[in-house]
Amino acid sequence: MAKTHGDPIKSLYVHVPFCARKCSYCAFYSEPSTGEEINRYVSALVRELGWVAPDLKLESVFFGGGTPSLLNLKQWTDILDAMEKHRLLPASEFTVECNPATVSLDKARLLRERGVNRISMGVQSLDEQLLDRLGRVHSRDMVFRSWDTLRKAGFDNLNLDLMFAIPGQTLAIWDATLTEALALDSEHLSTYEVIYEEDTALFAQLQAGEVKEDEDLACAMFEELVQRAGAAGLEQYEVANFARPVWRAAAPVRPPLPDVPAHACRHNVNYWRGGSFHGLGPGATGYVRGVRARNWANTQLYCEQIEKGRRAIESSECLSPRGRAGETAAFGLRMVAGWPFETFLQVAGCDLRTEWVAAMDELVANGWGERTPERFRLSAEGLRFADSAAQLFLGSK
Ligand code: SF4
Repeated sequence: MAKTHGDPIKSLYVHVPFCARKCSYCAFYSEPSTGEEINRYVSALVRELGWVAPDLKLESVFFGGGTPSLLNLKQWTDILDAMEKHRLLPASEFTVECNPATVSLDKARLLRERGVNRISMGVQSLDEQLLDRLGRVHSRDMVFRSWDTLRKAGFDNLNLDLMFAIPGQTLAIWDATLTEALALDSEHLSTYEVIYEEDTALFAQLQAGEVKEDEDLACAMFEELVQRAGAAGLEQYEVANFARPVWRAAAPVRPPLPDVPAHACRHNVNYWRGGSFHGLGPGATGYVRGVRARNWANTQLYCEQIEKGRRAIESSECLSPRGRAGETAAFGLRMVAGWPFETFLQVAGCDLRTEWVAAMDELVANGWGERTPERFRLSAEGLRFADSAAQLFLGSK
């Protein structure tokens, strides 16, 4: 069913829209669910996968959510069987997001044996009270237990997610979490500053004056993070992502990507470098050959559409070449390496040096940008404000 013209797409995102309970800050599409609903979702996903498979030659797969680790052994087996049937495996990088409350040794072994080679664990905090405040279903003990389980199952490429600027989180608490998290010796670290998104419990608390933002404290936490991660041997390669520079997994060394450490998340590097990817599952977004398409963020509707033999696409948008290039510039500047001018030219089809001179000059003048003959990138200070810097490149569709 997928129209294939041009080179096959190398990247696949699959959204698993189920969570045991909703976290207070979360605006992703996810909901609690029964086993029957999940079975129905898995059948629909397998069908959708078959339609898109002819257009895929995978280098990276990312199952995110939601909570992919909520799926049981049978459901995972059905999905992995389908991926094998369509010759989508092995993929150089195959990541599954896990919640520490839903990791068992059986499941971890199944995933590892069937081609998953990277797990991203949503830890967020190692402070019990903050975990409660965030509405997480897991405790700090579960993090350590699950981490051991994943290592025991043979995972040697692990990411952990942490959040900072959580209401009630002091610099001392952040520091203690960093100490314990870094001691886990992960291959990758992703961090997120809490954002107050509409339609979340945390946003309602902010509106009611029960919590307040503290930008100075958030900046201090970010500086602490960059310093501590670097001291622990994790190289910053994106605003809030850090990875081991030397490949340490047992799997053969992957062909290196330019400008990023060996354990950088290849799937995300593809996003930041403006690459195409298919998105499957309810609420998933894909970006294929300049067209961004989004599936219905409603599991029932998604399943109904697929069961009727139709793609479950709610909307699609064909970006203008200039709009695409602007987005590509903005995303890529989140990377510490910024944009080599020649690479940008190849990817976006236009030249940063002529199209966005004013934006680059402004960023250099205020200390947020650095320009050399080969590339433009954000300075350490500019990276802290990457979202604001990005605005200068966006807006022309
Ligand atoms: S586990 Fe993740 S996706 Fe699910 S509610 Fe919490 S933050 Fe959102």
